[in-house]
Amino acid sequence: MAKTNFVIAIDGFSSCGKSTVAKALAKQLNFVFVDSGAMYRAVTLYFIQQGVDMEDEGGVASAIEDIHIDFVPNNQQTQILLNGEDVSDAIRTMEVSSLVSEVSALKQVRTAMVAQQQKLGAKRNIVMDGRDIGTTVFPKADLKVFMTADPYIRAERRFAELAAKGEQLTMEEVVENLAHRDHIDSTREESPLRQAEDAIILDNSQLTQEQQLEFVLDLYQQAKKSSAK
Ligand code: C5P
Repeated sequence: MAKTNFVIAIDGFSSCGKSTVAKALAKQLNFVFVDSGAMYRAVTLYFIQQGVDMEDEGGVASAIEDIHIDFVPNNQQTQILLNGEDVSDAIRTMEVSSLVSEVSALKQVRTAMVAQQQKLGAKRNIVMDGRDIGTTVFPKADLKVFMTADPYIRAERRFAELAAKGEQLTMEEVVENLAHRDHIDSTREESPLRQAEDAIILDNSQLTQEQQLEFVLDLYQQAKKSSAK
């Protein structure tokens, strides 16, 4: 049967503003938006709350079976539910950020999350952002964007975001966390972060949110034209 949905994959380094662009694009196109990083963060939160030992394969497997993640639209925001509880804020703390890359590197975790993500995008028009969306989750995505930005600018953005939420951190801690996550994400065995060969690079170091949206909308129009051929 011919594929009728349109899939947009947005990958890239930590704190490049992937979700901001993906969300704006999905809104503009009336597509579903899925933040795959939020799913890995929810799994990490569960591991922390339940004291799951990452070295214990059996424990990890049964934890994964107990984890149910849902996205629920709520006014302008999408809430993320972990076993029915709204964890949208709880997954953004530094405690979760400092462990999420280790948890995401586990094969069992990736297999389960990738399967859920593929299901979410199987029949819908979707924009999904993450690290391996264009390479592993949707290798045949209709449009792939790989985002990057100057590391110092990324850290400044993340620092401002955390400060606005009342997290007391130094700039050094934020820089370290981003470097740590990028390193683990790019060097792990299971679907490491890398640019898909057919992805288009968006370096947003010097771009406003409006300019980024304009850039991806333009790519969408071009991709739509060529997929109609
Ligand atoms: O996108 P965000 O920075 O919230 O993602 C948190 C972490 O989840 C990343 O640092 C990465 O370790 C992991 N992740 C992943 N694969 C994805 C999305 C996120 O491994 N597709």
